[in-house]
Amino acid sequence: MRLYFSFPLNIMPRHIALIILWSFLLAVAGCGAMSTKDSRPIAEDPVCVYNGDLGCSRVRVDERTPRALYKGKPYYFCTEECRDAFMKDPAKYVGKSSGD
Ligand SMILES: [Zn+2]
Repeated sequence: MRLYFSFPLNIMPRHIALIILWSFLLAVAGCGAMSTKDSRPIAEDPVCVYNGDLGCSRVRVDERTPRALYKGKPYYFCTEECRDAFMKDPAKYVGKSSGD
């Protein structure tokens, strides 16, 4: 596993290694199964970007990806929950990153 290769566990305190491992697991578990071999296009989940949830902010786009149209632009989300949050107050999430 590449994680162990780049962070040898024997040269850092064990609790720091555990924290790194735990955040890694949380990021993976929070987004469902995301394969690195996937060739589908990647979009940014505006809800996760807004929340600073960077482990989930990049979503693979396919026909099953939760999406929403706002002001004629499609937005994609990691989960239905993120889409629901977006639909309640889209301006809150797109206002931060869009230039107009
Ligand atoms: Zn999300």
